[in-house]
Amino acid sequence: MFVKPTWEIPMLKVADIETFYGPSQALFGVNLEVNAGEMVALMGRNGMGKTTTIRSIFGLTPASRGTIEFESHDLRRLPAYRIAKAGLGLVPEGRRCFPNLSVRENLLVTARPGEWTLEKVETLFPRLEERRAQMAKTLSGGEQQMLAIGRALMTNPRLLVLDEATEGLAPVIRQEIWRAIRLFKQQGQSTLLVDKSLSEILPIADRCTILEKGSTVWVGEPAALDSSVRDRYLGV
Ligand code: ATP
Repeated sequence: MFVKPTWEIPMLKVADIETFYGPSQALFGVNLEVNAGEMVALMGRNGMGKTTTIRSIFGLTPASRGTIEFESHDLRRLPAYRIAKAGLGLVPEGRRCFPNLSVRENLLVTARPGEWTLEKVETLFPRLEERRAQMAKTLSGGEQQMLAIGRALMTNPRLLVLDEATEGLAPVIRQEIWRAIRLFKQQGQSTLLVDKSLSEILPIADRCTILEKGSTVWVGEPAALDSSVRDRYLGV
């Protein structure tokens, strides 16, 4: 029997998923792969299905068709709470954290053993160390986003998923977050990234996957994402 070498098997493989919100279909066949050590950008205009794809991967809005495989796990068969344990870390849109816990408590509550420790997260985002005793609800939007990233890192995920991590933030904070994302890239952290900032994404992404109306319509390296593809699918 021919056994495919593990280096050829993607870490995450989403194949032909379809997802509904009640009677309304949002995904009509999304395909997406992330190999170990890769940074993959999931792109598309507003409402094309990026967040729904991520919600489907994490079992928050389960897919009703298709397959979602992560390493040896069939994620469609796992409840949402087991998916994080399988090694996926999510920084969700809307930067959720526990508002009435301190910054440090928010970080410690998700901690799992691995490279990322409290000390390393606080070195990455010194503002979190400065505000470690403050309740999370008193942080600015940018600081809450850093905390959301820190919380995901503290789980020591094998795949980190960032959904619009820089959306709506002040330029100086955006720069701090992009600096962190570039560091993840240097460290070989497998990452799936949703963001609209092409000028930041394209230099660091290994591959891009573009969604249009709930389907994957284009997959390729950033260098191949020429103006015709951008005009057609990204509206820039
Ligand atoms: P954005 O860039 O604006 O965040 P997106 O690419 O992440 O967009 P989704 O949020 O996944 O897109 O939305 C995909 C489709 O699903 C859209 O048509 C949207 O209106 C619909 N949708 C999203 N959330 C819900 C919901 N809770 N109930 C019903 N429909 C929804």
